[in-house]
Amino acid sequence: MENKTGTLYIVATPIGNLKDITLRAIETLEQVDVIAAEDTRHTLKLLNHFGISKPLISYHRHNEETKTDVLIEKLKRGEDIALVSDAGTPGISDPGEEAIKAAIKQNIEVITIPGACASIQALIGSGLDTSEFTFLGFLPTNKKNRKEKLDEITKSTKTIVIYEAPHKIKETLTDLAKIIENRKIVIARELTKIHEEYIRKDINEILQDTSNLKGEMVIVIQGRSKEEVEKEEQDFFEKMTLEEHYEYYNKQGLDKKEIIKKIAKDRKVHKNEIYKKFI
Ligand code: SAM
Repeated sequence: MENKTGTLYIVATPIGNLKDITLRAIETLEQVDVIAAEDTRHTLKLLNHFGISKPLISYHRHNEETKTDVLIEKLKRGEDIALVSDAGTPGISDPGEEAIKAAIKQNIEVITIPGACASIQALIGSGLDTSEFTFLGFLPTNKKNRKEKLDEITKSTKTIVIYEAPHKIKETLTDLAKIIENRKIVIARELTKIHEEYIRKDINEILQDTSNLKGEMVIVIQGRSKEEVEKEEQDFFEKMTLEEHYEYYNKQGLDKKEIIKKIAKDRKVHKNEIYKKFI
């Protein structure tokens, strides 16, 4: 008889308050054969709290590559595995992605058990636009990569969500203060814990005293307003002569009809008016 492969369960755990675990997550942790944990000592405390006793194997950033093979072997032998990180949703600025990709490649079933995720909690509690958002994880420390991300934040019309560690928060807020102008910023601190707090002040005011910015934090930044972006684009094109404007799109390989349509839109005039100027 063919051996049935196991299932990889990706289980979200609380981000502070231990009550934020689902019944399904507990049930899954109880039923699997083994739990792959980012920090086994940390997960052991969670398991003890819920009276669960299960073999644990470590699965973290530095052994992800080799341990993924171990997990896949176990799954192929028919063992069910639950993968958890220290807090929140695995795979979101946490290990998990490699195991999920490898399991999918091997046709192993992956089931995700939803639960807390700091980025989503912070976003919804921020009071900023939730219809579209960009999650950037932790800002890179490498200068060039960091600048690229900061440029992305500068230009974004969508709400931006980033994670930051307390010892780097001042540096990150200082960098953000240089680019966000009058856009709102919200710091969601210690979510689901006793000292949960949403700081909704001007960024320069926050920077005057950062001594209270302790614990875990998510930064949520309002996107640029569409009107502001349109106005900037309009100013950009209005500085050009009509010929320069034409050349700008010509270089992009557009045909004459498309160029005229675009110029009319940029300058907020009827396309016939532009058309007449080019015949
Ligand atoms: N996988 C996790 C999740 O689903 O949110 C994120 C893990 S990441 C390594 C840790 C970062 O998440 C922290 O530095 C902080 O930015 C954010 N974070 C985690 N728990 C938080 C909490 N209770 N309050 C605010 N931010 C939190």
